[in-house]
Amino acid sequence: MRILVTGGAGFIGSHLCDRLLAEGHEVIAMDNLVTGSTDNIAHLASHRRFRFIFHDVTEYIHLDGPLDVILHLASLPSPVDYLEKPIKTLKVGALGTHKTLGLAVVKRALYLLASTSEVYGDPKVHPQPETYWGNVNPIGPRGVYDESKRYAEAMTMAYHRAHGLETRTARIFNTYGPRMRLDDGRVVPNFVKQALLGEPLTVYDDGSRTRSFCYVSDMVEGLYRLLLSDEVYPVNLGSPHEMTVLEFAHKMLEVSGSSSEIVFVTPADERTKDDPQTRRPDISKARRVLGWQPRVVLEEGLRLTIEWFQEHLAKPQKKPEQG
Ligand code: NAD
Ligand code: UDP
Repeated sequence: MRILVTGGAGFIGSHLCDRLLAEGHEVIAMDNLVTGSTDNIAHLASHRRFRFIFHDVTEYIHLDGPLDVILHLASLPSPVDYLEKPIKTLKVGALGTHKTLGLAVVKRALYLLASTSEVYGDPKVHPQPETYWGNVNPIGPRGVYDESKRYAEAMTMAYHRAHGLETRTARIFNTYGPRMRLDDGRVVPNFVKQALLGEPLTVYDDGSRTRSFCYVSDMVEGLYRLLLSDEVYPVNLGSPHEMTVLEFAHKMLEVSGSSSEIVFVTPADERTKDDPQTRRPDISKARRVLGWQPRVVLEEGLRLTIEWFQEHLAKPQKKPEQG
C-alpha cells in the first residue's frame, strides 16, 4: 500500500513509519517539524520506499499519485507544547484533520485518526471505556488540545457518514519510548533526564494523579491492527497498568539506578490546571476486536528508553520553533 503518515517525524509517527516499511508498504512522512525532528527519520533517508515531505497539514495538501491509507498523527500532544502554542494545537486538530480527510476522499484512502485519552478530560468514570463521553473544560488551558481532538473525532465520523469514507479512530493513552523529545516536558522525558543527570525528579503537586504507560512498540502494533480491522468507532489503546506519578518516580529511580531525590513542586504556569486526576484505559474492546494488549512490561520499556536517552543526552537537540 502507499501510505501517508502525518506527524511522521514525531515520536510515534517515526516508529510507525519503521513498522509500515517493514511490512513492505511505501511510506510518505509529512511533517512541519514544529515538535518533530528529521533525526527521528534520518535512518530512513535512503530507503527506496520512503519519502519525507516538509509541509504544514493545516494548509492545502497536494500529493501526486494514488494513496491507499492516511494515518493522521500530526499534533502537539505535550501539555507544555500546547500551552505554549495553543492556536497551532487547535489548528492542527481542526484544519489539519479537515485537510487530511479531504485528501482521503479524493484518493479514496482508508483514514486513521490518532485521537487521545484527553477526549475523556478529567474523567468521572474510571477506568475509561469508549462509551464514556468525557469531562472536558473547553475554556481551560488543556481545552485547546482536548477540544481539537474531540472536533477531529466528530469530523472523522462526519466524513464516514456523509462521504462513506472508511475511517478508524485510535484513542491513544500515555505512550513512551525512544525518540520522545528530551525537552517536551512530559513526565517520561522529564524523569528519565533528571534521573540520568542526578537532578531531583519533579513530581507535580502531591504526585497522587494516576497514569498508565504503554511502550511504543505495543502502541504501533495496536495502531497497525486497528488499521487492518473493520472497526469504525473509537478504540482505546494503552496500558491498563495504572500507578500514581509518585509511584512512577520511584520506579524510574529503581530501573535507572539513580540516586536522585524526589521533590514535590507546584508549577507556576497552568500546566497542572485541569490535569486529569486519574486515567486508565478500559481495553476490553481492543482485546476483543483487535486481539491486542500491551506486551512490554514497564521495567523493560523503561530500560530501553533510558538506554536511548543515555545515548542522546550527549547530542544537542533541535529546539522547536516558537509561536
Ligand atoms: P510528537 O510531537 O512527537 O509528534 C507529532 C508530530 O506532528 C511532530 O513531528 C510535529 O512536528 C508534527 N506536527 C504538528 N503540527 C503539524 C502540522 N501542522 N503539520 C505537519 N506536522 C505537524 O507526538 P507523539 O507523542 O508522537 O504523538 C503522535 C500522535 O499520537 C498525536 O496525534 C498525539 O495527539 C497522539 N497521542 C500521543 C500520546 C502519547 O503519549 N505520546 C497520547 C495520546 C495521543
Ligand atoms: N508530571 C509530573 N512531573 C513532571 C511532568 C509531569 O509530576 O515533571 C505529571 C503531570 O502533572 C501529569 C502526569 O505527570 O499528572 C503526566 O503528565 P504528562 O505531561 O506526561 O502528560 P499527560 O498525561 O498529563 O497528558
